[in-house]
Amino acid sequence: MRLSTFFLPTLKETPTEAQIVSHRLMLRAGMIRQTSAGIYAWLPLGHRVLKKIEQIVREEQDAAGAQELLMPTIQSAELWKESGRYDDYGKEMLRITDRHDREMLFGPTNEEMITDIFRAFVKSYRQLPLNLYHIQWKFRDEIRPRFGVMRGREFLMKDAYSFDIDAASARRSYQKMFLAYLRTFARMGLKAIPMRADTGPIGGDLSHEFIILAETGESGVFCHKDWLTLDVLQNAPGFDEDLQPFFDTYTSIYAATDEKHEPGNCPVPESDLVSARGIEVGHIFNFGTKYSKPMNAVVAGPGGEPVPVEMGSYGIGVSRLMGAIIEASHDDNGIIWPDAVAPFNVGLVNLKVGDAETDRVCQELYYKLRANGMDVLYDDRDERPGVKFADMDLIGLPWQLVVGPRGLKNGVVELKRRSTGEKQELSVDSALEKLS
Ligand code: ATP
Ligand code: MG
Ligand code: MG
Ligand code: MG
Repeated sequence: MRLSTFFLPTLKETPTEAQIVSHRLMLRAGMIRQTSAGIYAWLPLGHRVLKKIEQIVREEQDAAGAQELLMPTIQSAELWKESGRYDDYGKEMLRITDRHDREMLFGPTNEEMITDIFRAFVKSYRQLPLNLYHIQWKFRDEIRPRFGVMRGREFLMKDAYSFDIDAASARRSYQKMFLAYLRTFARMGLKAIPMRADTGPIGGDLSHEFIILAETGESGVFCHKDWLTLDVLQNAPGFDEDLQPFFDTYTSIYAATDEKHEPGNCPVPESDLVSARGIEVGHIFNFGTKYSKPMNAVVAGPGGEPVPVEMGSYGIGVSRLMGAIIEASHDDNGIIWPDAVAPFNVGLVNLKVGDAETDRVCQELYYKLRANGMDVLYDDRDERPGVKFADMDLIGLPWQLVVGPRGLKNGVVELKRRSTGEKQELSVDSALEKLS
């Protein structure tokens, strides 16, 4: 992509309405545009990152054995009346009436709809276990949408739903998601701590929230200080192995949200306890037959007897993650994208557009890097070097490759790593080699 034609509406001024750094940087870097309170358009740079995050989530869900489908955003109120949640959900639910006066709603979550799909087709325990997920926009009419995409009203969520014949099998399904979540967040360069959590309006008793520690987080959390240095995935099992020992290990190290934390009854001594703020990026629930019973999602068991299925649901805040990643990875000059979610891998900076040799080398690098499978943003604008460097730092691509007439006289270009600021002078060929 050539920056001269790329739709990248960066802002020079710091937007005053944004209270936290990730929101400020997303606006300044031209990633999003608010269209109403808590509702955002994703501009090309933001959209690229969103797709990268979504893809990592998808790959780990698939690896764990979940299957992707896609349910609609608009739901009928009927199903919610069946489960009993239509009234309970309250004002957070956006209720809509169609031209025939039928009650509809914009889905805040999909337990009812997936249960309805399940009961229409699955009739025998032999078809279990089953885990179905989608990545779809949700709407929750939050009282206080704020912090940009972190607490939006419309937001992108991955939600998976598991169906099992009995509690033991449901526990295995839960453990697979537990592992998939740890892997997903780690791939994005995040340290997410699984914390015992309240189940809220979803229901059930076994539940973990995945929390990124951050001062701007909206949740109060407590954990053992060991969590700060643990590498959970170092000895992680594969999805098909017995996950119980792994699960036992990492649920035994104390971590709880403030709803679950009891100061008088905490097993961790004061000196080892970390009290912090955190961002909830994922939440998993095992809720047994809470929906299958009222909605009659029943299969025939081994003896032919009717069994209401054991269910769980598993959410990841795909759009919220973008804010969380930026909160965790930025400096005074801008965003520092982890390689896995970066909108482009390399920013190629032409320091003197119009200089024949500089243009020629940039052109060559642009084509060769892309031939090597790199996503390249080529700054071919006729701008001062200072402007170009500032923009590159702001949008935070992992590598900057800087080409100018002075370097070329000595046969070198400059390669900068955004995360460390480390710069290296290299020949064009070694730069190419380093970046492939
Ligand atoms: P919160 O406590 O932040 O309101 P929640 O507990 O209501 O979130 P869940 O029902 O557990 O949310 O939904 C699963 C995931 O969806 C959350 O872990 C979070 O990452 C994301 N999410 C929830 N609400 C929002 C929102 N308003 N904007 C962006 N992401 C959200
Ligand atoms: Mg909420
Ligand atoms: Mg919550
Ligand atoms: Mg939650």
